[in-house]
Amino acid sequence: MKLSFDVVVAGAGIAGISAAIKAAREGAKVVLIDQYGFPGGMSTAGMVSPFMKHSINDEVLVRGIFEEIEFEMRKREGMIDNGFYASAFRVATFQLLKQAGVTMLFHSVITNVNRINNYIKSIQVILFGEEIEIEGKVFIDTTGDAQLVYLGNFPWVKGDEDTGRLQALTLFFRMGGIDFVEALEYVKNNKNDFFSWMTYDFDLNKIISVAGYFSIVRKAIQDKRLSEDVNYIFYTTLPASGEASFNTSNILGLDGSTSFDLTKAELLGREQVWQVVRLLQSDIPGFKNSYLIETAVQVGVRETRRAIGDYVVTEEDITKCNKFDDAVVRGCYGIDIHGQKDEQSRLDEMPENDFYEVPLRALIVKDAENLLVAGRCLSATRKAHGALRIMPTSAAMGEACGALAALSVINKKKIREIDFRSVQEKIKHNLSKRFFTEN
Ligand SMILES: Cc1cc2nc3c(=O)[nH]c(=O)nc-3n(C[C@H](O)[C@H](O)[C@H](O)COP(=O)(O)OP(=O)(O)OC[C@H]3O[C@@H](n4cnc5c(N)ncnc54)[C@H](O)[C@@H]3O)c2cc1C
Repeated sequence: MKLSFDVVVAGAGIAGISAAIKAAREGAKVVLIDQYGFPGGMSTAGMVSPFMKHSINDEVLVRGIFEEIEFEMRKREGMIDNGFYASAFRVATFQLLKQAGVTMLFHSVITNVNRINNYIKSIQVILFGEEIEIEGKVFIDTTGDAQLVYLGNFPWVKGDEDTGRLQALTLFFRMGGIDFVEALEYVKNNKNDFFSWMTYDFDLNKIISVAGYFSIVRKAIQDKRLSEDVNYIFYTTLPASGEASFNTSNILGLDGSTSFDLTKAELLGREQVWQVVRLLQSDIPGFKNSYLIETAVQVGVRETRRAIGDYVVTEEDITKCNKFDDAVVRGCYGIDIHGQKDEQSRLDEMPENDFYEVPLRALIVKDAENLLVAGRCLSATRKAHGALRIMPTSAAMGEACGALAALSVINKKKIREIDFRSVQEKIKHNLSKRFFTEN
């Protein structure tokens, strides 16, 4: 069987969802493919929440489709402040994709790229028991692991440029039955046992983040009740009262782009989660009657391959808040690297009143005529990637790729022949006003 589309979006995480919706709304015939039976990737299968910082002062830097997803989740009471449920994300994005007229092809694994010179003609996809070929004019790689780049033998890099190290993996889980009054009272009275970035003006109508319990974790490791890879306990509250999402397990030394390592990580993650749940219930005030609701469908993968694009975003671009004429994304989240055992973790503060930009060139794969990339596998150094990988920025990158892909198809021009200003016109809501004030 062979199918043909204008735009083929590979991977239905937040980047792919945004790319597919944008390209379809701009008039292209779009297919969105994912191995899971639902959209969301890390936002659903990985159960990652909340959305990280994407506003400075009162200015929201990522709007558009990202805000529509938020709106659809709030409508269903699945989002509070910036925290949300995977189930709300799934239904909200299914709805938006359907309304945009995107063909969704789920339960389908991409296995090969058919390349003629520097042009991708089609990809091979295994559906349940059947292999099909999907042709496209423009391909967007939003697989998180740069699968199209890798399978098509286009340039990529994995992990740290010098050491090859990758960020730690984390299996998210969700608990209920937490007595937050008691839990937060304890936190307030033991500030030295928590991260210095924490604030203590707790408001239960907003997301509350708690990270630390260092001495309890240390003692549990000494007592051999907890894996020595766990450094601290980190949770954020969720819409329903008494519930929180835990970003706590810490799985080291494994590569999230290989099935062998991922399998090990799934097992280690579930072992760690049970240890942490038991520790919370027995040792931590406020958690006596708490219970595990669920662990994520898959272990969370922060970093694997990154495409090499026409431009590679650098650490300096992030820390110096560099601006570009062909900017298509803005962000303000600092470099955040969850290191390995022998590596310092890093979480940078950024200036309160400035932002950095991602140029369109960082979303165009080098040496490829019709391949774009967005989200976790964008073209950036490892450190810049540590800042850009978050969900809001991934959504903005996806939307920019969707706009470029549709312009290329509708105008029958190659992606590099499209003037970046016409892409910017389509995604004004995500850009600095400096581009538009003269008009
Ligand atoms: C533990 C952890 C904590 C994080 N914390 C935060 C946070 O608090 N806030 C925040 O904003 N961000 C956070 N992030 C970052 C963020 O969640 C991700 O970087 C972002 O969601 C990536 O989106 P994406 O669309 O690029 O990729 P993904 O969400 O990874 O989506 C890629 C999709 O491609 C599919 N796919 C891959 N290969 C194939 C194939 N061969 N065939 C078919 N389908 C395929 C996958 O199934 C998946 O659905 C965190 C990430 C992790 C792992």
